[in-house]
Amino acid sequence: MREGSLEAPTRHPVDWKNDLFWDKSDLEAELERVYDICHGCRRCVSLCDAFPTLFDLVDESETMEVDGVAKTDYKKVVDQCYLCDLCYLTKCPYVPPHEWNVDFPHLMLRAKAQDFKENGTSFRNKTLTNTDAMNKLMKIPVINQAGNALLENKTFRSVFEKGFGVHRDAPVPKYHTKNVAKLTKGLAQVSITAKPVGRTTGKVALYATCYGNYNTPDLGADFLKVFQHNEVEIKLVPKERCCGMPKFELGDLDSVEQSMQYNIPVLAKLVDEGYDLVAPIPSCVLMYKQELPLMFPDNKDVIKVRNAFFDPFEYLMIRHKGGELKTDFKQELGDISYQVACHQRVQKIGGKTKDLLSLVPGTQVLSIERCSGHDGTYAVKQETYDKSVKIARPVVRKVTEQAANHFTSDCPMANAHIAKLAGDAIKSNEHPMTLLRRAYSL
Ligand code: SF4
Ligand code: SF4
Repeated sequence: MREGSLEAPTRHPVDWKNDLFWDKSDLEAELERVYDICHGCRRCVSLCDAFPTLFDLVDESETMEVDGVAKTDYKKVVDQCYLCDLCYLTKCPYVPPHEWNVDFPHLMLRAKAQDFKENGTSFRNKTLTNTDAMNKLMKIPVINQAGNALLENKTFRSVFEKGFGVHRDAPVPKYHTKNVAKLTKGLAQVSITAKPVGRTTGKVALYATCYGNYNTPDLGADFLKVFQHNEVEIKLVPKERCCGMPKFELGDLDSVEQSMQYNIPVLAKLVDEGYDLVAPIPSCVLMYKQELPLMFPDNKDVIKVRNAFFDPFEYLMIRHKGGELKTDFKQELGDISYQVACHQRVQKIGGKTKDLLSLVPGTQVLSIERCSGHDGTYAVKQETYDKSVKIARPVVRKVTEQAANHFTSDCPMANAHIAKLAGDAIKSNEHPMTLLRRAYSL
């Protein structure tokens, strides 16, 4: 037996169609086994609150071992995991092919899924994770105006916290009535002859995402402008629904399957037509690159879409390597504090956003590889908001010390969360693609 491994981790599929996946006692035994390994290891103590919760339960038990922890308390650990995947991909020496076969995030997912199936979830959790329905409602002009105004009203927010469970200080994004398609009408019709470079075809379809469509729709125009400037043909995915990540984090795997059944045929058709796929939010990219393929390993279209999905900066840097990225930058960006989003780190693509922004003259990118604490709905829920602020503290401290010209993160939600917590210490906070567009003066 040896600790750690020089081999690359191999991820086993999520075996959720197997009856054993749903067996309560089998799950309990696996939780006890893995909790015991973690108790003896404790490397992940600083990553999130799941591990400190586990270690406190062990240390405060009569035996001071996992066997002294009540099985009914196992869920307390599960509730603190937001499936960022960092423990698996950045810390754990016992992941497969190691014989201990520890996959902590997917074990948490299994526990969440069983809990969801048995007990359902709250109205608040259902609503927060039903992003398509929220967008449909909030794009109605009269509801949009009233909704945005109420979400900014302090009195309403405290009533909302008591009645609905969304923390009064949580960052809640503004909703727009026009999505990316409406805002960029005409922009996507530029005629470009696609030139393949490396793994890229030179033709891209932008999966705008729920957040990108109705919370940050201007970002779509930034993508179109930057890709077109680099002579990549780009168009929007013609119809899309949520990628399923919010439901995945809730353990609602049937809803993830429904999203997959809607989105994958549309995306697979685009791939057949020669399009590569990109999205502005790392969590949505990860869903298509990793989680859906692990949930549906035998679905050929899911695998086809996985193989064509890129992080946008990964895409542009592949083309840079092949000599097909323009470096005719017109504006220096100065110092940029850059929080590396967890769901981007675990894509194993390296620091492509930093590499690209560093090509801009007069620009220095100062990376911060720490969790923002936003983590899906974790920073929004009344009961976990304070923990999310604690998790974000090292990033806020670093951003304040760096006093850069800009703060950025590929995850717009992380960006908003840190910007709110850092307050005046941040002069401007934008998506890296917006900064890149500015550097090109497009
Ligand atoms: S996946 Fe992320 S949140 Fe979950 S236990 Fe691992 S580090 Fe913590
Ligand atoms: S997930 Fe792996 S690295 Fe983290 S505490 Fe458990 S055994 Fe250790």
